[in-house]
Amino acid sequence: MNPKNGDLMPEHSYNFHHFMPADVWRWKMIESEIDQVLALYDYEEIRLSILQDYKIINRGISAPKDECQTGEPVDDTLTLCAVDNDLSTISLRPEGTISVLDYAAQYLAEDELHRLYYHGPMFRKDPQGKPQEFYQLGVELLGGSSILSESEVISLGIRLCKSLGLGEVTLKLNNFGCKGCRQEFIKEMRRFLVESESELCVDCFAKLSVNPLERRRCEDPNCLQILSQGPKITDYLCDSCNADFVKLKKIQANLGHSYRMDPFLYKNFSYYNGTVFDFVLGQGDNEIIIGGGGRYDELSEQITGKSMPAVGFYLDMDIIFDILKQRNVYESQNGTFAVYLYAESSSMDMMLLQITHELHALGVRTVFGINGDELAQQMQRAKRKGCSLLFAIRDQNIRDGKILLYNLIKEHQEYIPLSDISNAVLVARKAINNE
Ligand SMILES: [Zn+2]
Ligand SMILES: [Zn+2]
Repeated sequence: MNPKNGDLMPEHSYNFHHFMPADVWRWKMIESEIDQVLALYDYEEIRLSILQDYKIINRGISAPKDECQTGEPVDDTLTLCAVDNDLSTISLRPEGTISVLDYAAQYLAEDELHRLYYHGPMFRKDPQGKPQEFYQLGVELLGGSSILSESEVISLGIRLCKSLGLGEVTLKLNNFGCKGCRQEFIKEMRRFLVESESELCVDCFAKLSVNPLERRRCEDPNCLQILSQGPKITDYLCDSCNADFVKLKKIQANLGHSYRMDPFLYKNFSYYNGTVFDFVLGQGDNEIIIGGGGRYDELSEQITGKSMPAVGFYLDMDIIFDILKQRNVYESQNGTFAVYLYAESSSMDMMLLQITHELHALGVRTVFGINGDELAQQMQRAKRKGCSLLFAIRDQNIRDGKILLYNLIKEHQEYIPLSDISNAVLVARKAINNE
């Protein structure tokens, strides 16, 4: 229902994701670092549409159902309001992997390796059903079925975290096995769940019965205790899965990446097979998962009908951003040289514009003051804006062919000829930048 005139809209009913100028420069620096590291590994950026075909998304979500899920998978996709019937089939991008596989099946050669990445907003419903926007980086290596592809992707993830300023990142590993060996584990896990039903909370029992490989974040320590006594998937790996996994761990150890095995590392998406991993900071109760991924060799065939082995990972950019901001990893670009200008009265506006025009041609950042304020106020504002020089444009001075220049760093003022403005600014910039 539309609000009537005069009705107030409810405030803060949604928590939308705005980026304030004080944060945007940090995001740009982080994105630039990501681009540079990924270019080293020959990954190319793909920009996926935010609007997605719900039919394809749904195929991805429900794809692994036949194998290990018995009930309906959780579908937290946000679809657009059905203003007409066609729109109900459009959803807001909940993740990137499914769209990348759909794109690859249509446009990319099946017998080659493809290295792709994307970053940007993703949308899902939160546990209360409210729309949620979050930032994610996704990296996908398509076409590679060897252990080298997994090693490349994991190494890349670790290097990326370290380059961003998260030097202490560690790796947690598990293995979901192949179709063959996973079935044994799932059978055993279901038997264990039935036996332990009275000891587990309703939610854990219900969710794990649908998908025994779902990541559980139960608050009840009793549940975690019971589940830790359950079957471990790594005890069910066949010889081939086991041999590959041993090799992968050896490669990671040789590269100097510290890792921990976690046989209870599960994923929210059940389309993974073989190696799965998390990138984590801290340990125990202080552990923070900042990203992760794994191999998903069968997903492409299930969504598109075309077989394409693949391995990839995501990084939770919202968490990473907050940590980097707290740590002051990036320095503000506001420190770049800037000149503050104000006119004593609006009759000097043309002069103000002419001087800034001249300074912009020299690549100098300028900040306008508010006409008419006192010099002391102007100086305070100039300092807050990180300016090094201040020009006060006054009628009387201009008529005499000069202008007041105040050096805010040296706290020194002088009158210079109007014809000397550019030169004075360049000399001051050189002196300040060399300091
Ligand atoms: Zn196997
Ligand atoms: Zn529980």
